[in-house]
Amino acid sequence: MFKGILIDKVDDKYTVQLQDIDDAVLPEGDVDIDVMYSTLNYKDGLAITGKSPVVRRFPMIPGIDLVGTVTKSTANNFSAGDTVLLNGFGVGETHCGGLAQKARLKSEWLISLPSGMTPEHAMAIGTAGYTAMLCVIALEKNGVTPESGEILVTGANGGVGSFAITILSKLGYKVVASTGRMNETDYLTKLGASEVIDRNTLSEPGKPMVRERWAGAVDSVGSHTLANVCASTKYGGTVAACGLAQGMDFPASVAPFILRGITLNGIDSVMRPIADRVEAWERLANILTPEDFADISTFIGLGKVIETAEQLLEGKVRGRVVVDVNKS
Ligand code: NAP
Repeated sequence: MFKGILIDKVDDKYTVQLQDIDDAVLPEGDVDIDVMYSTLNYKDGLAITGKSPVVRRFPMIPGIDLVGTVTKSTANNFSAGDTVLLNGFGVGETHCGGLAQKARLKSEWLISLPSGMTPEHAMAIGTAGYTAMLCVIALEKNGVTPESGEILVTGANGGVGSFAITILSKLGYKVVASTGRMNETDYLTKLGASEVIDRNTLSEPGKPMVRERWAGAVDSVGSHTLANVCASTKYGGTVAACGLAQGMDFPASVAPFILRGITLNGIDSVMRPIADRVEAWERLANILTPEDFADISTFIGLGKVIETAEQLLEGKVRGRVVVDVNKS
C-alpha cells in the first residue's frame, strides 16, 4: 500500500480522494519508481476536478509529471537507484501518474534527470516549463532572434507563461507579458517582462489584421487571444501556440498568414519524441539558475492537492505548484 490521490468513476459518480492505494492498482510497466515530487498542471486540475474528460481509465492516479528513484527495472536503459523524469505520454490520463508515492511506467517514456538539476527544480519546471522551452525552441527554429523585436507571452502568470517569460528574458529577448492579473505586475517584471499589458486588450473578437507589433509570441490561451496575437504579429513572425486557457476555438482569418507570411507553430509536449525532450531539458538545465525558481514555485503536500487544483482552474494560482508526495 502507498499514499496517493485516486480518481474513480462508478455509475457516473466521479470521486477523488487522498487514500491508501493497493499496489495492484499500478498498471503494466518495466520500471518501478519511488516518486519524490509531482506537480499540478492545468491538465491535472481538469482531471482532479472532473471539469473536463481528461481521465480515460478508472481508477486513475492523476499527475502528468513526476521525478523519482527507480526501485526495480527490467529495462536496459534504467536500473535501480537512477533518478528519472517523466512528462506526459498520457500518464495521469490513461496510465497511473505521479500524484502518489509509487509509479510503474514504461522505460521508453522516461529520461534521466539532467545533470546539475535537482528533483525539486525539475518539478518546478514540470510540463509547463518544458512546454515553454519547446515554444522558445520553435521561435528560434523559425528565425526569431532577440534582435527581431518584442515577444508577447500570454497567460503570463500561469506555469507556461511564467517560464516562457523567464527563459526568453534570460536569452536576451524583450518580453511583453499579457495577464488578467495586473496586480501581479511586480512579479512578472521580476521574472523578466519589460512591459505588462491587460489581457482584455486581446480577449475580445478583433480585426483580421492590426498594427504589426510582435516578432514572436508564446500563447497558452487560444481562442480570440490567439487570433488577435496572430493579427498583430509582424511580417515573417512566429506564434508558438500551446494552450487553450481561454478556449479551444480559433476564430481567426487567413489574412496574417497570406499577407504577412506569419507562422503558427503548434506545440505538443505530450507525445513529443525523446530526442526533443532531452534537448529541451538540457537547455532548461543550462539556462535556469536556482534563483529563477524562488518566485515561481510553491510547495504543497498531497493533502492540499485537491483544493489547490480547484484554485488552479479558477486562475488563482501563480506560477508553479510542486507536490511533495511524501508530505501530507
Ligand atoms: P495555468 O498555470 O493554469 O495558467 C493558465 C493562465 O492562463 C492563467 O494563469 C491565466 O493567466 C491565463 N488564463 C486563464 N483563464 C483565461 C481566460 N479565460 N482568458 C485569458 N487568459 C486566461 O496553466 P499552464 O499549466 O500554464 O497551462 C496553460 C495552457 O497551456 C493550458 O491550456 C494547458 O492545457 C496548456 N498546455 C499545453 C501543453 C501542450 O503540450 N500543448 C503543455 C502544457 C500546458 P493570467 O492570470 O496571467 O491572465
